Formats: sequence, C-alpha cells, structure tokens
Amino acid sequence: MSTTEEFEETSQTSLSKVVLDLRKSLLEDYQCPPLPPDVHPVLPTLTASQRLSLQHFIAWSKSRGTVAAYRLHAEVLQKASDVEILTLYQARKLATELTGLESIMADMCPASCIAYTGVHETLEFCPFLQDGKNKCGEAQYKDKLKPSAKNKPCAQVMILPIVPTIKALFANKESSRLMRARDSILQQTCILLLLPWEQELTQTLVILQYIVCIIQIWGCFRSHVI
Ligand SMILES: [Zn+2]
Repeated sequence: MSTTEEFEETSQTSLSKVVLDLRKSLLEDYQCPPLPPDVHPVLPTLTASQRLSLQHFIAWSKSRGTVAAYRLHAEVLQKASDVEILTLYQARKLATELTGLESIMADMCPASCIAYTGVHETLEFCPFLQDGKNKCGEAQYKDKLKPSAKNKPCAQVMILPIVPTIKALFANKESSRLMRARDSILQQTCILLLLPWEQELTQTLVILQYIVCIIQIWGCFRSHVI
C-alpha cells in the first residue's frame, strides 16, 4: 500500500462522525468518477438564437449589468443580427438546463452571522454568539403589517448547491484534471507536514506547488462558471 493510500485510509477512519454525517448530507450518493473525462461534455445542438442569447447573457453577467441593460442591449443585438434574442428569464433557464447549476436563495441573518439552512432551518432568530457570550438575536423575518401576511425574510443570500458544482467541475476535462491534481498535492502536503523538519525544503516546494494548483483551479473555475 502506497503512502498516499495509507493516508487516505487513515483519514477515512479518523474522520469524526460529525464530518462523515455532513459529507453524507451534502454529497448524498454522489461519487467522483474514477478517471477524468477524455473529452469535453457533449452539449445539445443550439439554435443561432440560443447561441447568440447565451453569448449576450455571459457578456451581460461579466459586466454586472442591470436587468434594463440586458433588455436594451438585446434589442440592439436583435435588430443588428436579425436573430431573436431570448429574454433574461429564458436565457437563465437555458444556462441552468445546460450546466445543471441552479442557484437557490436562502434566508440569512442581516448581520451575516448564519444562513437559515441545515440545523438552523427551523429557527426564527439568529442564535450566533457574538464575542462568545451575547446572542445576536436578529429576527429572520420582517415585522408583518397583518397577522395573515406572508413571512418576508430580512436578508437573503444566493447559494450555488455544492453537489452540482462538484459534478460540473469533475465533468469538465480541464477542471477535472486540476481538481485531481489539487487533491493529490493536498494529500502530499499533509503527509510532508507530519515528517521531521529536516525535509524543510521539500515541504516548502510541495506547499508552493499546492498554492499554484489552487490558483490554477480558481482561474479555471472563474472562466468556466459564469
Ligand atoms: Zn446574527
């Protein structure tokens, strides 16, 4: 058994129940494919309208434009190209279908302490202890004008669910290779950190390698996920 395999086995057995339960609830039955894909994912054939709309949607997202900017630029593009440009709702829906990535909105504490998910899902007031003693106590919902009115959250946060994100990263040829490289170097780093400091130079090189890998993955992720 190699050192890496030994490390993996030790890591698995030494993980606490909390970590194992969290992993189970986050990943469910998903398992990373044993090998990275040889080719990029095969996408359905897009019409000219869908392709141009997605290009417009990506440019709009990168420029952090307003909803009005999307519509106004779409009108100009449609007139100039004579190709129908999808509405923002339609373009978002198409991007979601193609990538499998769908963002969700979760209620959060207006002071940014917690999100009302997981163990906090059923709470109505923020339980976070500020300075380790005083409870934040901010309400999840705004005050209602009528008792029968619907609850309105004080603040929300947009979340990209972790499993579709991981699946997307491992489905892409390049990001899958980088994710595996990151995992391998992280394991080597952990092993070396347990070795005596006489091997300081080797440790430093591997840690530098890990940092470069993380930067590469982050760059890849930013260029693939819009
Ligand atoms: Zn709070």
